[in-house]
Amino acid sequence: MELVRDIPSLKKIVNRVRKEGENIGFVPTMGFLHEGHLSLMRAARAENDFLAISIFVNPKQFGAGEDYEDYPRDLERDRELARSTGCDLVFYPAAREMYPEGFSTYVEVEGLTETLCGASRPGHFKGVTTVVLKLFNLVAPHRAYFGQKDAQQALVLRKMVEDLNVDLELLIQPTVREPDNLAMSSRNKYLAPEHRRQAPLIYQGLQEAQQLLQSGERRAGKLKKRVQEVISRSEDAVIDYVEIVETGRLHPVEEVQDECLLAVAVKFGNTRLIDNVLLEV
Ligand code: AMP
Repeated sequence: MELVRDIPSLKKIVNRVRKEGENIGFVPTMGFLHEGHLSLMRAARAENDFLAISIFVNPKQFGAGEDYEDYPRDLERDRELARSTGCDLVFYPAAREMYPEGFSTYVEVEGLTETLCGASRPGHFKGVTTVVLKLFNLVAPHRAYFGQKDAQQALVLRKMVEDLNVDLELLIQPTVREPDNLAMSSRNKYLAPEHRRQAPLIYQGLQEAQQLLQSGERRAGKLKKRVQEVISRSEDAVIDYVEIVETGRLHPVEEVQDECLLAVAVKFGNTRLIDNVLLEV
């Protein structure tokens, strides 16, 4: 497994691999790898000849006052975990390598980025799409893998790939959870012990709404209320949003008819957690 930090070395390897006719699978990450990341890497490993990942805490997707500086980082640990999945290449650039002096071009997907996390984190998705398109151009993968955990991100990136004719297949993998159903996240490490104990209420709320839907309740207001009630059993949980949107344009719905996304963002202290489930009738 090779670890490269600079763009010329990366291009050299990628060009060689493509010349040999091998398929490249790519998993972009911000590091501090957990089973969620590893599940994407295993899928990519199984479906491609060559597995590349990136580890880059992208400053452009963090807003002022967010946790860019504090975001967990541990290259040595990540390196071992990547190696264990049979990864061939880790791209680990410095911020200056990705954004040299004078960098001034951005990618913005309109329409899908104003709601949900886009509403609470202005500029976040612009940072995500910009870095991911740069990484796609650098790694030139045949397939790229993203997690359903960040559902809006995956849909925004899928739209970018479609609109800008990016020549790759984008695959979305299921959310990996802790044994108590909390969605795995690099940020879980920051939860205070009492918050960690309460955090599974997030998925419990999503599940109870799914059950309510199964029993015939299709009104979005009632389903959202159930999620809010369950999460509010924790006195420390501060709900950012509970929303039900259709999966095409992410517009809120009054009633669940076709496939919808039930998505939540909750803060425990300074730690913001997101989760979601697909609703089907
Ligand atoms: P991150 O390092 O948080 O930017 O995540 C990198 C990729 O891993 C993104 O495509 C995420 O959606 C995905 N991911 C993060 N957590 C999970 C999880 N619990 N299950 C599945 N995929 C995940």
